[in-house]
Amino acid sequence: MISARYREIGVRMENFQQALPGFVQQTGWSVKKTIPGQTSFMLELKKGFFDKATIKVRGVPQDMVVEVDGPQNLMDVVEQALANSCDNPGAMVGWKEQAQQQAMEIAKGFAGIIKAPIPTAPAPQPPPAPKLAAPKLEACMHCSAPLTYDPEEVLVVCNYCGYVNNTTGEQPPRYSMLPIVLGGSQALEMAKNHLAKGIFVTKGMAEGAEWGSIVLRYIPNWAVTVQLEGDLEGKKALIKTKDAKKQLAQEVAMKAIGGALGGLFGGAGRGAGEAIADRTENISVSEAIDVPVVARKATEYQPDPGAYKIPLEKKEPYKKTGEETLNVEMGAQEAAEKAKGLALQELRSRYTVVSRFSVGAYPVGEPELIYMPWWFIEYRMGGKAYSMIVDACNGSVIAGQRPWLPKGVIKRR
Ligand SMILES: [Zn+2]
Repeated sequence: MISARYREIGVRMENFQQALPGFVQQTGWSVKKTIPGQTSFMLELKKGFFDKATIKVRGVPQDMVVEVDGPQNLMDVVEQALANSCDNPGAMVGWKEQAQQQAMEIAKGFAGIIKAPIPTAPAPQPPPAPKLAAPKLEACMHCSAPLTYDPEEVLVVCNYCGYVNNTTGEQPPRYSMLPIVLGGSQALEMAKNHLAKGIFVTKGMAEGAEWGSIVLRYIPNWAVTVQLEGDLEGKKALIKTKDAKKQLAQEVAMKAIGGALGGLFGGAGRGAGEAIADRTENISVSEAIDVPVVARKATEYQPDPGAYKIPLEKKEPYKKTGEETLNVEMGAQEAAEKAKGLALQELRSRYTVVSRFSVGAYPVGEPELIYMPWWFIEYRMGGKAYSMIVDACNGSVIAGQRPWLPKGVIKRR
């Protein structure tokens, strides 16, 4: 994250807030969300499938702080917008200059600390270079080619030889990859079929959808097996859902059906009706769930463990491909922790109401890293943009947002 403080430049907050979206859009970002305000505001930005950024601004005209969680050139754009919306742009000290000043202050501080306990220094020594961050792996451990990567990435694929480098310099984990079986046009067919199966999507609508860009990326996933042990008391869902509102709606619907049956059959039928409404069971749980965990921090495309299985039987040793491969941002330990939560969520989604839930989740063995080829497909339907992911190895739809279109959205011609 980059942050900078601007003093005595007379920011016109309202102008800045209005101008900023236009500036960032010119560099290819789209504004996903805006939180406006008098003394602070925030923009959430998106570019393509993978890039996300946030801009936070707070302060008063003569003292303003800007934080950018995103690339450096975005901060440059923010400063252009700021210079355009203040009374005294000449007094502005840019973020790069501020960063340099800070680094020098830190260096002076270090020099002072080191000099202080040695009063009888024989000769003035040049101040030691400040150590500001942990040492960073700069060259591939296999072929010595230079490596470039984001600070949060923990496993980095070498662009030259394809070796997977652990940025801490330790041994990389066990890893492999899946082959690309489906080409782009086949993946597009799978996506179209998936869309056409939507309950509220008519054939005409599916055919009328506009299909946009389609890109292939190798995405690192941790394959984690989680053992669930314990017991619970709950009502089985007829339709599995992770949405609490839908869980509740199902219960209400079941009660209505139960009640209707009860009424229909009079006294004798009451038992049958209540049996449908009241399906509370005691269930003992002992099962292993295979959980795929996307090894990236932004996980809008996290597969649902109940609906998607990594085709591990097609696993191959990792080799360099010409395809763009995303680096790992999440280590094995963190993935195992996340998998526990996802496995419990999967179990929970099978029930509408849970009155007691005492189930423990235990990762089994070491998580294994699998580089998986995924097609990312964009489409528009009914004036809205959606996206879908198709596994290029086995053709299953991993994250597909079938639009739920309320009546009247599609105009009849
Ligand atoms: Zn290399």
